[in-house]
This record gives sequence, structure tokens and C-alpha cells, in this order.
Amino acid sequence: MAWASSFDEFFKNFKRESKILSEENITSIKSYIEQNDLQEALSVIDNALRDIENAPLNIAVTGETGTGKSTFINALRGVGQEEEGAATTGVTETTMERKQYDHPKFPQVKIWDLPGIGSTNFPPQNYLTEMKFAEYDFFIIVSSTRFKENDAQLAKAIKEMKMNFYFVRTKTDNDLYNEQKSKPKSFNKENVLMNIRKDCSKHLQEVLSSEPPVFLVSNFERSGYDFPNLEMKLLRELPAHKRHIFMLSLHSVTEDTINLKRDSLKQKVWLEAVKAGAFATIPFGGMISDDLENLDETFNLYRSYFGLDDASLEKIAEDFDMSVNEFKVHLQFPHLFAEGNDVPLGDRLVKYIKHISSVTGGPLATCIYFRKTFYLQNLFLDTAANDAIALLNKEALFEKKVGQYISKPPDYWE
Ligand code: GDP
Repeated sequence: MAWASSFDEFFKNFKRESKILSEENITSIKSYIEQNDLQEALSVIDNALRDIENAPLNIAVTGETGTGKSTFINALRGVGQEEEGAATTGVTETTMERKQYDHPKFPQVKIWDLPGIGSTNFPPQNYLTEMKFAEYDFFIIVSSTRFKENDAQLAKAIKEMKMNFYFVRTKTDNDLYNEQKSKPKSFNKENVLMNIRKDCSKHLQEVLSSEPPVFLVSNFERSGYDFPNLEMKLLRELPAHKRHIFMLSLHSVTEDTINLKRDSLKQKVWLEAVKAGAFATIPFGGMISDDLENLDETFNLYRSYFGLDDASLEKIAEDFDMSVNEFKVHLQFPHLFAEGNDVPLGDRLVKYIKHISSVTGGPLATCIYFRKTFYLQNLFLDTAANDAIALLNKEALFEKKVGQYISKPPDYWE
């Protein structure tokens, strides 16, 4: 049945890192559709959507005091060191208890600050039991400068519990700076990084008998060094239904992250649209006409996911000594729904639908009927993602004359 293959085709468009539906779920939905059991197919979709929405994510971050653990936790939460609710940095840890930090935008995402195993004096197994190891989705072991035998022993114990850990070495920026100062003539950035990586891997391998990846990061530069690689690795290894929330919780600081966010949201919008429109019988090529419900709330959420909410825009405008309105001129999303626009939204939407149909091919466009809100949500997601990408290079953005759109408008725009 064409429906089944549309389903398959749709999910093939996305990378593993952004897939929010497990392969098992895709297979079972497909097979129900093939057996003409639409009711069951929809029930799998319904359950999957519920899982995606309710999935909690608990991240354990452990490391000795002074390694940059608090700064790392703030970086992961997208909270500035001086903001309210930030993990306090630069203080010696005295507590033996774990501490909980919620993500500011997604309370389902919790980051647990665990005291360093060295400061607790617990053997690794006891440490894990004390820290309620079974509650976490994965562990991040933070270290800096000198390698600690304790960390490797902890990694081994975590592995024995069949849980995932990731080894993060902070302050890479400092290491490079120091090397350059001490050996200005022979300094080679790639060599320094390689040596640090080798040194960590060697120590870990001695204890673990396998070589886990080591991520060299600077907590002050989330788009640099291995921070983006760490995020991609975590996304790849998380169960599908947990990816969506983790992806949204990531700061939009690289083009890859922004694209994955957009892809993740597109899948969710698609699943919701299938759910809403699957029983409709509409003439070939038709579209369910729905009153355009109040989509403002949804669009405001999308803006916040991509860092385009008013608060975020105000911060950027302030940095550039501009007013928000002056600054919005450079972005596309504020023009989408502006009244008195040269291209009315309805016309733009028709063009966009034609664009989607040409990209996704016949079956999808003709076998599954979507409501207008589906196309509007997609149009908005594409526009917001483009704006967020353009904002990565703010200097170039603001050099353009006021009144010009920066990123090349997509075909369906004009
Ligand atoms: P914690 O005790 O492990 O929580 O460590 P903190 O997060 O308080 O960091 C200790 C010190 O290292 C602070 O002065 C931080 O500003 C600094 N720091 C943390 N991470 C980095 C990093 O990646 N690079 C540099 N250069 N300094 C860092």
C-alpha cells in the first residue's frame, strides 16, 4: 500500500541522530498499514508520541572538584555562569550528596551533579549505589589536566553495570594556550590535541581493556573542540524516544544542531498530522480545510527552541547596540505573518506546499492528507531554522543593509 511506503520514505530522510521513532516502531506501523489495520497503526503512533512527549532524561555528571564540572553543567544547560540558578563555579565541593539541576526550558531534562568519587572515599561499586546509578540515562565523567586513576576505576564499574559513560576532558583551551606559551616554535595544535587524547585513552585502556572515546572540550566554547561531537554521540546512542527532548534542550550553536532540531520537530509534526488526518477521505490531491487554529503558541515555542524568542533576541540586540525591531528586519520569521506583506501568507503557503510535494514526491503528497496547519508548521520550522543558522554569523548578518534579508530566501519564499 502506498501509505506504508510513504511512511518508510519519510523516515529515510532523517539521520539516525535525529530519528525520534525507533526502527521497531517504524516496522510495526508499516506492517499494520500493510494489513490494512489503520487503527492499530495509529495506536502505535499515539503511544510513540506520548513516549516522546513524556520521556524524562537524567544525566549524571561526575568529576573531582576543580575539574570544571559546574561550568560544564552550566554549558550543557545553556545557562551563563553568572545567571540565576547556575551551578556555582570556582568553589571547593564539600557535599557528599548529588545535586539536581533542571534544564531552564525543559524540566524533563535533569542534570545531576555527583560529588567526585575521590572526595567520597567510596569504592566504585558503593559509590554507584550511593549515587542511585540506575536512575540515569548515562554518565559523563569530567576530568582536566592530570589523569586520575579513580576516574578509570569508576568508568569500569559503570561499564560493568551495562551503562553508558562518556569521558570528557575540560580546559582544552588552557592546555593549548600553555603549550603555545612554553613551546612557541614547535607548537602544533593538532599534535597537542592528539597527545592529550592518546594519553587519556592509554590510561583508560589499561583499566577498561577497550578504548572509549575521549572528548576534549572547552566549557567556554560550545561550538568548538569536541563539544559538538559529544552531543552527536549522545544523540546517536540515546533511545529514539529520548532524542527529541535532548535535541531540543541543546543550545543552537552549530548548524548541525539547528538542522537536527528542525528534523526532529518535523518528524513530530508529521506524526501528529498523520494522526489527525488519517481517517479523512478527501478527493485526490485535496487538502483538509481547517480553520487555522491559533498557532501562535506553537510558533512561540518553536522560536524559543531555536533561540529566536523575544528574550534571546533582546540579548543579542543589546550586544550589538541595536533595537529588537531594527534587528528583526534581518530575519525572515517576523515577516512571515506580518500584515501588509508584499506576498500574502496564503500565496506563500501554496508555493510552499508545491515545494514540499516536489521534494517528497508523489505518494506522500497524494496519499496522506494533511491539514493546512501541517504545512504552516513546516514553513515556520524551515524559516526559523534558516534564521537561527543566519544568526550563527551575526557579524556578517548585521553588515548587510537594514531592510535586506540575509540568508538567501528559499525558492518558495518569493
Ligand atoms: P568544579 O569544581 O569541578 O565544579 O569546577 P568549576 O566549574 O568551578 O571550574 C573551576 C575553574 O576552572 C573555574 O575558574 C572555571 O572558570 C574554570 N574552567 C572550567 N572549565 C573550563 C574550561 O573549559 N576552560 C578554562 N580555561 N577554564 C575552565
